[in-house]
Amino acid sequence: MLSVIIPAYNEEGNISKAADIVRRLLIDNSIEYEIIFINDGSSDNTWLEISRNAEMNPAVFGITFSRNFGKESAIFAGLRYAKGNACVIMDCDLQHPPEKIIEMYKIWKNNDIDIIEGIKTSRGNEGIFHKISAKLFYGIIRIGSGLDLRNASDFKLLDRHVIDALNTMPERLTFFRAMSSWVGFKKESVYYDVEERQLGKTKWSLKSLIKYAIRSITSYTSIPMQIVTFIGAVSFILSLILGINTLYNKLSGKSLEGFSTVILLQLFTSSIIMFSLGIIGYYISKIYEEIKNRPRYIVSDIIDNRNNAKKEKDDEK
Ligand code: UDP
Ligand code: MG
Repeated sequence: MLSVIIPAYNEEGNISKAADIVRRLLIDNSIEYEIIFINDGSSDNTWLEISRNAEMNPAVFGITFSRNFGKESAIFAGLRYAKGNACVIMDCDLQHPPEKIIEMYKIWKNNDIDIIEGIKTSRGNEGIFHKISAKLFYGIIRIGSGLDLRNASDFKLLDRHVIDALNTMPERLTFFRAMSSWVGFKKESVYYDVEERQLGKTKWSLKSLIKYAIRSITSYTSIPMQIVTFIGAVSFILSLILGINTLYNKLSGKSLEGFSTVILLQLFTSSIIMFSLGIIGYYISKIYEEIKNRPRYIVSDIIDNRNNAKKEKDDEK
């Protein structure tokens, strides 16, 4: 069985559409399936829509969070509740072309491959600023952790082995793309074009993207901390040179000049110290977050007719 995991946040217009398309597609290809919708604390009628679909189709399973916990948490909730031998994670706005699910499924079925990644051939319509910052972001991740995530997306098929492996990872601050790469296993790629978004608009604001980027970078690399060490080393060398210069001046009896050097040095070192403390503080706050060991999400309701569906089937027999 294939579990299709769809996180949804304020997607009331897209739920039924996504459910219908996925159902049609999987039935046409006679693939046994379940669809797991995770309502990530939407403020519109997303949960009502999910409930309606779950009532109509017992293969639809719904979870709703008590508030918005973010797409990452929604994906991990989906992984936790999935019962399939494999799962596909896709967006609710149909930007991930559903036909590709079949392609992924076939590769999974016919080969001994555990992860089939959807790779974007184009990044869709993005502004220049967005493009540059994406490059910078993936560059830092690549240098820091050796993971090349440049055109990676959350659109993936995962075998049960991988789902189980991900479910054992305890961290609170998750970064799904990197984690599913970190676990290893045999990988294969499927290429797709990012479609235009269906109804509604993107949930990412500049602020949330920056937050996500910083969080992901710090989860996967300690490069920012090493930068601190690097700057420390450079300024040590500089201070050696300056120290020799100062000593020389003093010994040759012209040590009164250089007042502005003192001020500049003060400014320079104190700003580096502040900057470094900030970086270290950020990591400490993350350690604090993790150590609190709070759940990644809180489920406030579940609609599960999957067992009933099985029972009905058995009764028919
Ligand atoms: N999403 C979510 N929780 C959030 C933000 C987004 O579950 O806090 C879901 C959203 O409903 C969609 C997917 O994540 O199914 C991708 O979101 P979006 O389309 O806004 O991102 P983009 O495609 O612009 O990167
Ligand atoms: Mg989208």
